[in-house]
Amino acid sequence: MADGRTHIKTLLWSLPRRPSLVASTTTPLGVVVFLYMNIQENVSLAQYTTLKIGGMARYFLVARTTRELIDGIAYAKQNDLPVFVLGGGSNILLDDEGFEGLVVKIEIKSVESIDRGDTVEVTAGAGLDWDTFVADMVSDELYGLENLSLIPGTIGASVVQNIGAYGVEISSAVLWVEILNTETNNIETLKNVQCEFNYRNSIFKSNKHYIVTRVAYELKKKANLQTDYKDVAEYFLSKGIEDPTLAQVRNAIVSIRTAKLPDLDTIGTAGSFFKNPVISTESYKALLEQYPAMPSYSIDSDTVKVPLGWIIEHVCGMKGLTDGSVGTHDKQSLVIVSKKNATAEEVKSFAKKIINCVKEKTGIEIEREVEYINKK
Ligand SMILES: Cc1cc2nc3c(=O)[nH]c(=O)nc-3n(C[C@H](O)[C@H](O)[C@H](O)COP(=O)(O)OP(=O)(O)OC[C@H]3O[C@@H](n4cnc5c(N)ncnc54)[C@H](O)[C@@H]3O)c2cc1C
Repeated sequence: MADGRTHIKTLLWSLPRRPSLVASTTTPLGVVVFLYMNIQENVSLAQYTTLKIGGMARYFLVARTTRELIDGIAYAKQNDLPVFVLGGGSNILLDDEGFEGLVVKIEIKSVESIDRGDTVEVTAGAGLDWDTFVADMVSDELYGLENLSLIPGTIGASVVQNIGAYGVEISSAVLWVEILNTETNNIETLKNVQCEFNYRNSIFKSNKHYIVTRVAYELKKKANLQTDYKDVAEYFLSKGIEDPTLAQVRNAIVSIRTAKLPDLDTIGTAGSFFKNPVISTESYKALLEQYPAMPSYSIDSDTVKVPLGWIIEHVCGMKGLTDGSVGTHDKQSLVIVSKKNATAEEVKSFAKKIINCVKEKTGIEIEREVEYINKK
């Protein structure tokens, strides 16, 4: 709305005709309070995802504060609606038929910091854009997030996914996570160890009633750079830089990622579609007999991680392959890309082809990193 008066007028006019967009709550003194929310109806979700795919949300709410989030959840409960929490939409594939419940887009954007001597505790709202936050921390000369530069999405999802890149996972910098527990309606705080962080996994993935509202990170004031990851080390070697600064590390990551990953403004993608499989050292040795060049990264004495992009490219021959409106990215086969007007069904069917090929040729059962969001 251009001005506040028009907005209020529209709201008052629309209220009697849309009574369903009102929730009620009872205060501790027993007073029933009606909550008027800016819930929209039948909103196209494709615009909110990086794959640019998805039908309509039956109801859609932008929650800019924890209060708005709590009210939205109350509304969903009173109307018996399933809830889907949306961040930047960069790790999901939404159903072509949309979502028949309430989609809550988290836009809580507060930032606070406390100086703790050698470190700074920075607390960020779940709806802040991840890379804008990283850029701000780097310009404040705070160390710890730089290797995770240019990952799309929000602060909230950074802990849901335990995002990682170039040898660093976000779990290494998280102090605590604040959530709304929608079962109890309480705001709770989970310490790092309670988040059960794992490779692209956390307690939040299996507990959908935990909605992340804020995340506190512990960032270092003194240099603590990790530049030994192959691509990063090669970048600095090629530039003749021996002792990079914090800003140079961020620039390196941005440059490496920009060269490798599709441009989100022109191509639909959700980044790596699958997780890199972790297999036993024994199975890996058996695979080496058939595919002697297959690379691996040691996890421990019993297991190795195999780069799935290599398998999709060299074993399945699917790098850069296009099938209708979807395909694998020509520079990184772990990334599925979609053209305008591609459907969720097309992406799912293409992903299935990759899953089947990898299983058939290597025996490895791969797991999706991208989450499918169904209609209900
Ligand atoms: C080009 C590209 C490159 C990428 N590179 C990387 C990479 O290098 N490393 C990496 O780890 N990932 C990468 N990703 C994946 C993606 O960016 C991350 O998983 C990111 O954290 C998703 O954030 P989002 O806000 O877009 O989450 P969404 O896609 O909106 O949501 C993902 C999941 O998190 C849940 N969620 C979102 N916000 C909240 C919240 N506040 N509370 C509770 N649940 C919530 C959603 O319900 C959903 O289940 C890449 C994606 C793209 C498109």
